[in-house]
Amino acid sequence: MPNIPWELSYLVYLLAAVLFIFCLKMLCHPRTAVRGNLTGAVGMLLAILATLPLALKEGTGKPIGSTLGILLAGLIIGGGIGATLALRVRMTAMPQMVALLNGFGGGASVLVAGAELLQRNLKALATPWDVALATVLSGVIGAVTFFGSLVAFAKLEEYRWFRKPIRYPAQQPINALLGLIVVGLGVASFMNPTNGWLYLGLVAVCSILGLTLVNPIGGADMPVVIAVLNSYSGLAAAATGFVIDNAVLIISGALVGASGVILSQLMCQAMNRSLINVIFGVFTAEEDQAKADEIYAGRVKSTTAEEVAMLLDSARRVVFVPGYGMAVAQAQHAVSQLAALLESRGVEVEFAIHPVAGRMPGHMNVLLAEAEVPYEKLKEMDEINPTFSQTDVAVVIGANDVVNPLARTDPNSPIAGMPILDVDKARTVVVIKRSLSPGFAGIPNPLFAADNTLMYFADGKKAILDIVQAMKEGA
Ligand code: NDP
Repeated sequence: MPNIPWELSYLVYLLAAVLFIFCLKMLCHPRTAVRGNLTGAVGMLLAILATLPLALKEGTGKPIGSTLGILLAGLIIGGGIGATLALRVRMTAMPQMVALLNGFGGGASVLVAGAELLQRNLKALATPWDVALATVLSGVIGAVTFFGSLVAFAKLEEYRWFRKPIRYPAQQPINALLGLIVVGLGVASFMNPTNGWLYLGLVAVCSILGLTLVNPIGGADMPVVIAVLNSYSGLAAAATGFVIDNAVLIISGALVGASGVILSQLMCQAMNRSLINVIFGVFTAEEDQAKADEIYAGRVKSTTAEEVAMLLDSARRVVFVPGYGMAVAQAQHAVSQLAALLESRGVEVEFAIHPVAGRMPGHMNVLLAEAEVPYEKLKEMDEINPTFSQTDVAVVIGANDVVNPLARTDPNSPIAGMPILDVDKARTVVVIKRSLSPGFAGIPNPLFAADNTLMYFADGKKAILDIVQAMKEGA
């Protein structure tokens, strides 16, 4: 066995932890976010490299080639799959990928903690109480995270069976029963760590709980669920760090866990929901076609690029309201072009950003920053809402739930109480989308039938480019 300076690993771990903290700080602002991401990636690379000497020390007695071989195989297979997925993923599928990554974090924690338990039992090593406790926590949080994240992935991907929450009788009592079984098995596994079957049973029940907890949650509440699962994946990793006595895993897990808790809190505030209400809520997100027909019948007015160009030509203040459809249409560059054209003609232009617009936190900010829209032009909901009454035209591009007035008027709606962008208060509202189909929450939107709303049915990018063309031709 070569003389490997494994003590150095701890110093490198410290450096990696510092890089993670800087990464989080830099991710807080769009201007520094890309550098922050890179800083985090470098920290992770250092953490992996620093683990090698420790792993080789751990494997003392075994041929060095076999330990290295296993490590390299893991790195190549895991890294290869990760890199391929990340390179191939559509920009609009990023949220699904984040959901999967959260889930894999939880799954890995379950497996690593389970493998450590098995190894201890095979070698007949005693399991101290703190390791036994951390193993139980890894199993519980990791399994719930893995299966919960798979359901979140399926919902974001809009798989057929997951489009609407599946409900069944006695849903909450069944979850409560599963919760009690988890407590029982968790205590038993903690008291008898030598019995691996208890750990397996615990993981199996938590897996079912992960499915049954996330499945009934409606589309509009998914931002909170994803933030919570993100936090869980960090907590599971931190617990696993205690199981295998790995400092950098504890630190990085705690950082992810804590930042996930803060994000969950922010998302709850943005949706005016409590966490309990989201997880155990009883809202039904059923699209009511009859209700949609009743709302829209004979009231929807459609418009054209030329008509919108004329409206914009005579406007003094225009607010763009982007939503998920802008991401699907990849219309951000076209929107930026139209905004620049309007500004060059003396129109005041701003962008209204709802905290849950799109499918991931900061989705709209990222897209508009990519299209070089100045950051100062992006206004948060609290700041922009009082200005809609002085806005000549609000151009809603691919947004639906975040501008749905049912949140204010229908206490039975799945989005009841969620603060929305008050576009309906603008003099004229132009909504650009392809049809009258609902947003992620699956409910009709009375805004489309409002007196001051004009619907421009088209793909977002094409519609905006046609408006630019019409404005230029009309100039
Ligand atoms: P919505 O999902 O409510 O609506 C998006 C709209 O975009 C659809 O109605 C669709 O209508 C339209 N659209 C789709 N493709 C195009 C296209 N090519 N061109 C033009 N329009 C298009 O989006 P919002 O941003 O308003 O709301 C986000 C929703 O997602 C909320 O319910 C939120 O809770 C949820 N969510 C948010 C997350 C987050 O972290 N931000 C995470 C998970 C869920 P049509 O098909 O007719 O074109």
